[in-house]
Amino acid sequence: MILPVVAYGDPVLRKKAEPITKDYPKLDTLIENMKETMYGAFGVGLAAPQIGLPIRLFLVDTEPFAEDDIYTEEEQTALKNFQRTFINAEILEEEGDEWAFNEGCLSIPDVREDVFRQPKVTIRYQDENFKVHTEVYDGLIARVVQHEYDHIEGILFTDKLSSLKKRLIKGKLTNISKGKIQVDYRMRFPLMKKKR
Ligand SMILES: [Zn+2]
Repeated sequence: MILPVVAYGDPVLRKKAEPITKDYPKLDTLIENMKETMYGAFGVGLAAPQIGLPIRLFLVDTEPFAEDDIYTEEEQTALKNFQRTFINAEILEEEGDEWAFNEGCLSIPDVREDVFRQPKVTIRYQDENFKVHTEVYDGLIARVVQHEYDHIEGILFTDKLSSLKKRLIKGKLTNISKGKIQVDYRMRFPLMKKKR
């Protein structure tokens, strides 16, 4: 089932998400629905707060980036094969000199901006079977993981922009909250006026 993606301005996107246990109700169905929602919107990642749940769960699938021939064959293979479900993730370390990448977000349609992040990340998480992993990522995979991880910490990529850039996109963000935007996937807008 495709779930509506929560738009910018909804308080759920600002909560520090809570860890979950194996007993979380209907977790398998939730993960399936989130995958369907992510693929339906052509996203490379989706975090639970974006479908309205303040829990430490997010998905990443970097396969769509593998098409891009600016990457080496090795990078393309890595991107093509990177599909993960992250539960109760904690970033342990971020390293290296910050680099810019033009980010977007399913909760903030039509806004794309260069965001600076460190290139290498060490993360500990549980997979869908609650098996614990500690992995190190770099490049674009690290980038997507960092973006999704921020969601479970209540952080959005627009928070990382300069104050000038923030001012420039303020009107656009307000319009998104009000639903004054065209999107081709299901969304829920916090400030949309209810009909009748
Ligand atoms: Zn996002």
